[in-house]
Amino acid sequence: MDIKITKTTSPKAKPEGKLGFGKVFTDHMFVMNYTEGKGWHDARIVPYEKITLDPSAMVFHYGQEMFEGLKAYRGADGKARLFRPDMNAKRTNATNKRLCIPQLPEEDFVEAVRAVVEVDQDWIPTEDGTSLYIRPFIIATDEFLGVAPSKTYLFIIILSPSGAYYESGLAPVGIWIEDDYVRAVRGGMGFAKTGGNYAASLAAQVKAHDDGYSQVLWLDGVERKYIEEVGAMNIFFKIDGKIVTPMLNGSILPGITRNSVIEVCKSWGYEVEERKISVEELIDAQKSGKLEECFGTGTAAVISPVGKLRYKDDVMIINGNEIGEVSQKLYDTITGIQWGKVEDTFGWTMDVNK
Ligand SMILES: *Cc1c(COP(=O)(O)O)cnc(C)c1O
Repeated sequence: MDIKITKTTSPKAKPEGKLGFGKVFTDHMFVMNYTEGKGWHDARIVPYEKITLDPSAMVFHYGQEMFEGLKAYRGADGKARLFRPDMNAKRTNATNKRLCIPQLPEEDFVEAVRAVVEVDQDWIPTEDGTSLYIRPFIIATDEFLGVAPSKTYLFIIILSPSGAYYESGLAPVGIWIEDDYVRAVRGGMGFAKTGGNYAASLAAQVKAHDDGYSQVLWLDGVERKYIEEVGAMNIFFKIDGKIVTPMLNGSILPGITRNSVIEVCKSWGYEVEERKISVEELIDAQKSGKLEECFGTGTAAVISPVGKLRYKDDVMIINGNEIGEVSQKLYDTITGIQWGKVEDTFGWTMDVNK
């Protein structure tokens, strides 16, 4: 893949003070077109700018789109690193397949991410806990109101410097187990990273927020009995010394952080079970004192300790609403690898500069 680079002639001022999330964008973006019969073409890095689409562009009507999320980190040693971008490339194609979006060569995905981050590497913030959030996405652009897969697409990557997820250390969150709305069912598109899943999640999230909970934990879409995942995180429990997480069943998003946590826990000698977990089992484990820890995993927070789980009239307080030992150790290890402070024995990081 040949990438044509056009640099901006009017670089923006870098943000000062506290960085939030997802509101500030860098000077450049990666763009590539797809046209049926021609394949992916015209890979380019151009100044960040608005895109113009016809109001009939298919993405606006039937939601044929996908996205990814990963980060670039400025290491303690000054090096810029990506974390497992090959996994995002693989997941992109799994999502694309489900949404009838053409496959994208994995090496082109990784190279596009690397190249655009390299161009804007001065935007990777340096303060503790900060990173450059990378948002690749693909949208259907045919000007057509018929329901069918589009014949043209845009693949775009934008970058956003983001602040530390935790301002003052890991803090446990309260989670609402949703017993009415569902997010996804087997055979649907729960395993795909696509906007529609998020649109479907908003109503429950608003309800949970109104009740003082920060996120929603979804149950399976059929029986509303088994634990699936949290809004944008996978979920783990430590029950009676074992690490337990719902198995991937088609309706759960296969998180890269989830996969990394499983690998790290196994390397520490923990027994890791990927299986069905019912809410009842959790309530019982909690009552008998065997529910030792609960944490969410995702690119944004890496590890998000859960101190409180609400299910109907039951409120479970986990580990005295304190951070668990395994949660803290996982956070330190995985972020340590990302920031180049802990040796990357798994071979998970990739240097941005060749
Ligand atoms: C992205 C995402 C996750 C977390 O995946 P990571 O690769 O670990 O960031 C979990 N659940 C949903 C629904 C997601 O969209």
